[in-house]
Amino acid sequence: MAPIAITPTATPPPELDTTTGLTANGIEHNVVKTAPSVLKTSQPSSSPLAATITEVSRIPSKASNDTAASLAELDASLLETTLTTTPRQVPAIGSPEMASQKVCTDHMIQAKWTVESGWHAPSLQPFGPLSLSPTASCLHYATECFEGMKLYRGFDGKLRLFRPQLNCNRMLMSTNRIALPAFAPEELLKLVVKLCATDGAKWLPKDRPGHFLYIRPTMIATDAALGVERPKEALLFILLTCFAPMGNMSGGIKLLASQDDMCRAWPGGFGYAKVGANYGPSLVAQGEARAMGYHQILWLFGEDCIVTEAGASNFFLVWKTPEGKLQLITADLNERIVLDGVTRRSVLELARSRLAPGHEDLEPIEIVERKFSMFEVEKAAQEGRIVEAFASGTAWFIAPIGQIHFRGKDFTIPQEAGESGKYTKAIKSFLKGIMWGEDGLEQHEWGYVVEESS
Ligand SMILES: *Cc1c(COP(=O)(O)O)cnc(C)c1O
Repeated sequence: MAPIAITPTATPPPELDTTTGLTANGIEHNVVKTAPSVLKTSQPSSSPLAATITEVSRIPSKASNDTAASLAELDASLLETTLTTTPRQVPAIGSPEMASQKVCTDHMIQAKWTVESGWHAPSLQPFGPLSLSPTASCLHYATECFEGMKLYRGFDGKLRLFRPQLNCNRMLMSTNRIALPAFAPEELLKLVVKLCATDGAKWLPKDRPGHFLYIRPTMIATDAALGVERPKEALLFILLTCFAPMGNMSGGIKLLASQDDMCRAWPGGFGYAKVGANYGPSLVAQGEARAMGYHQILWLFGEDCIVTEAGASNFFLVWKTPEGKLQLITADLNERIVLDGVTRRSVLELARSRLAPGHEDLEPIEIVERKFSMFEVEKAAQEGRIVEAFASGTAWFIAPIGQIHFRGKDFTIPQEAGESGKYTKAIKSFLKGIMWGEDGLEQHEWGYVVEESS
């Protein structure tokens, strides 16, 4: 097999999607140069530029195996463990420490990468500060990406992750977008599981069913040089942090539609990747929303006011079409201005299999992923066709939406089941069942059981 062209060519090879070919080349190049085994284990796919999180680990390649063959891969089996000698106290339920989201568990995992040797052996070590040069690339050029997952303590006593493979795939997609090194997503998953197994029993004890820890895998470029160039050194780290259990927001979330002078993501940008650069710049608008009494921004895009996401969550609407057809609608992923949420994907899959045909007292509903505008939402609201709305994401779970403000007008979103709409309630209970083994201890393939160390 011939080595891949590392110089982007004006005419991409025919098997590359011509609209995204150069970017795809760049991503393939990144993988070949940083962790070639990701390609060796991959299967061919028709689209080299992985558009979604399940495709990303299957980036095909014509790369020869000897390109950068001496680079070590991320290998969870090499993990070196140093347990803490100063264990810390688990915050009490309802304590200010618990609510602060500042308390991390006893341990963290780190793995270093360098351009010369690839991935070093990962280590599980006491949680503590990092040492970084003030010139580190991530501090200047936003060479940072992350994931957000949860470790759930089930009502059956088990510890579970929810579809963690998807998060690990997405992390690879995000690292590729910002020239951070590639890795085999399965190895990241093994490291996440190891940390959860080590700290889970103590920090998420069996007498706290229904509670969770938040998991934050992160990668940063650590090169101590100010040159604007591809990272030569990186650090992967994983930490677990305490979160207070989610309460119900009375009346639902209030959203403020973004103004014309600001957008979160744009075609050709990086809105589809979980890179830090997406979040800092959104905080001005979020602050404005809070000051006006709203919880989050509903991000619109372009002159047509295309509805994308709500804060750092995906946005769903149940409405009736002008013809009277009941639909669950969310933005599609085609323009890559919306994050491919694991929760979003799960909602769509569950809704297609369980709600579309009709469920208990709920009418059958059509499930739609398409581009839709705020003007359509406004018209539906004025004509009384909005049934319910919710935001979906790991952090907020399924959050009912009670109100949307757009260009001087507030629309109240019905919540027919009391604290949410009826479809929202059904979706929430499907997911809860899988995550926590609630409602008849549902054993579902999406629930990934973590065996505890003690
Ligand atoms: C993380 C995130 C989501 C939700 O993704 P999940 O995988 O469901 O947690 C949605 N939108 C944005 C912008 C995000 O960062």
